[in-house]
Amino acid sequence: MTTTALTPLTHHCRNCDAHHPRHQVRQCIPAENTPEGEVEVLVCPICGSYDLEQLQEVGHAQ
Ligand SMILES: [Zn+2]
Repeated sequence: MTTTALTPLTHHCRNCDAHHPRHQVRQCIPAENTPEGEVEVLVCPICGSYDLEQLQEVGHAQ
């Protein structure tokens, strides 16, 4: 048994074809030229790719 049901996989990495929950791919990096002083980026925790796709709907975990 796993606990993946508690963390819906909402993001898909096009590079390594893995799915991740939002909190694992979201990173805030400093950005001096933005009002917030930082910018949010999505990074794959496995391969480090920025090529992530946010899924519109989350299907049944299988
Ligand atoms: Zn990846």
